[in-house]
Amino acid sequence: MADDARGPLRVAIVGGGITGLAAAHEALLRARDLGRPVTVTVLERTAKLGGNLITERSGGFLLDAGADSWVAAKPHATALAREVGLEGSLRGTREGMRRYFVAWGDRLHPVPDGLVLGVPTRLAPLARTPLFSALGKVRMALEPFVPARHFEGDDDESIADFAVRRLGREAADRLVAPLLAGISAGDASDLSVRAAFPQFVAMERDYGSLVRGTIAAQRARAGTQGEGAFRSLEGGVATLARAVAEHVRKAGAHLHTGAGVGAIARVGPAWGLELEGGGRIPADAVLLAVPAWVAAPLLRAIDEGAAGGLDAVPFGSTATVFLGYRREDVAHPLDGVGFVVPRSLGRPILAGTWVSSKWEGRAPEGHVLVRAFFSLSDRLARDDESLVQLARAELRVLMGLSATPVLSRVFRFEHASPQMRVGHLARMREVRERLARVAPGLRVAGGGYEGIGIPDSVRQGREAAGAMVKGE
Ligand SMILES: Cc1cc2nc3c(=O)[nH]c(=O)nc-3n(C[C@H](O)[C@H](O)[C@H](O)COP(=O)(O)OP(=O)(O)OC[C@H]3O[C@@H](n4cnc5c(N)ncnc54)[C@H](O)[C@@H]3O)c2cc1C
Repeated sequence: MADDARGPLRVAIVGGGITGLAAAHEALLRARDLGRPVTVTVLERTAKLGGNLITERSGGFLLDAGADSWVAAKPHATALAREVGLEGSLRGTREGMRRYFVAWGDRLHPVPDGLVLGVPTRLAPLARTPLFSALGKVRMALEPFVPARHFEGDDDESIADFAVRRLGREAADRLVAPLLAGISAGDASDLSVRAAFPQFVAMERDYGSLVRGTIAAQRARAGTQGEGAFRSLEGGVATLARAVAEHVRKAGAHLHTGAGVGAIARVGPAWGLELEGGGRIPADAVLLAVPAWVAAPLLRAIDEGAAGGLDAVPFGSTATVFLGYRREDVAHPLDGVGFVVPRSLGRPILAGTWVSSKWEGRAPEGHVLVRAFFSLSDRLARDDESLVQLARAELRVLMGLSATPVLSRVFRFEHASPQMRVGHLARMREVRERLARVAPGLRVAGGGYEGIGIPDSVRQGREAAGAMVKGE
């Protein structure tokens, strides 16, 4: 690595998504704190920074194409937003509209009050819902009496097995698994509970029960939940990426778009990044803030083992279909944030968001905005118009919504949903340990390595950049 005598530490960040941008911000902050000269270069393949944070305006509607918010309980994204001057733009979901629904049969049922990710914290509303059978309800209510499993070392369990063990099969199939589908479009019987829901594993360890753990967490948060469990920004979630990009640019970072990295090679004690369009960028420390399937081929010549570990992470493809309507054409009350659909129903739609009920300012006066979420299996690799027709057909069945939309818009996310399968965290730790041994100064971070959401991406980007500047 460069030392001060040889000039500034050259940090190169591959990928200008929120991970890469957060990393650039952290590198500059740490360098300032430590009085260590650095140059920070972000190399982004596409013409736009932000990766999966995409917000578009169309006909007066505001569309968050991919991610639409982050979990407030994980502080990293909110903290980053504040640091780049977005404190006043932070928004919670609309009050009085926070309930959500689950499809069962051909109907949407409201999730009973007090049911947090399938964990019953109040029994009376659970008793009344038609969503579960009497036996299913009794099984959920018995959760505090189920013996706790103690995970040791790299022990892991699928989300489905964990949910069945703690809450019974009905809660697992009808609620926990479809909620997860909204996040990773994955199969709960393959995905790792330790990677996707570490907070549940911690509750089982610390309280012996999810019900006791959830109630304790609610008490600890009492009075701080006025804005709900999710956060976004007034101008949509991409505002975060734009603001971080502006902030780091002003602080001296070099942000290059249209600059895909095609190969990485060792050059003496440093690294050379070959750009796809020609040219080479030298760097002392490199952060690969790109999905695992992009990082794997870049690492193959450096360490086959690390590349193989990353190859093993499958990625799913999804599409979001936005439909805007005149309010008067929609009889449905849209009285919540939307709905999730259990896979066992065999429906093509995974979830629906009633965007204009969930957030203020997303549809023009007198209009509403709905978003349908699909997994793009081969069966669904259709053109945009067929996806719009499919979304309309699904909303007709589930919501009785047969009006003609005034806006329809499709976004595709190819290979953008990492599937953190059972054993994922142990595999990623091995990749990191190999890189630290074989390729010091070269790291990976971001969506799919350790967690999949925006807060975990921000955290990983910042941790990696901080360590790089400190020379760890
Ligand atoms: C449909 C969808 C909905 C989601 N909803 C939510 C949500 O509601 N809440 C939440 O918290 N999270 C959500 N997520 C996840 C969240 O968007 C991601 O965790 C986060 O955006 C990951 O950021 P990243 O920077 O790690 O990766 P990315 O956003 O994938 O950024 C990687 C960047 O690297 C660039 N790149 C790729 N290859 C190269 C190369 N060779 N050289 C240079 N650059 C390259 C890409 O163009 C891209 O800009 C959602 C994701 C999707 C797809």
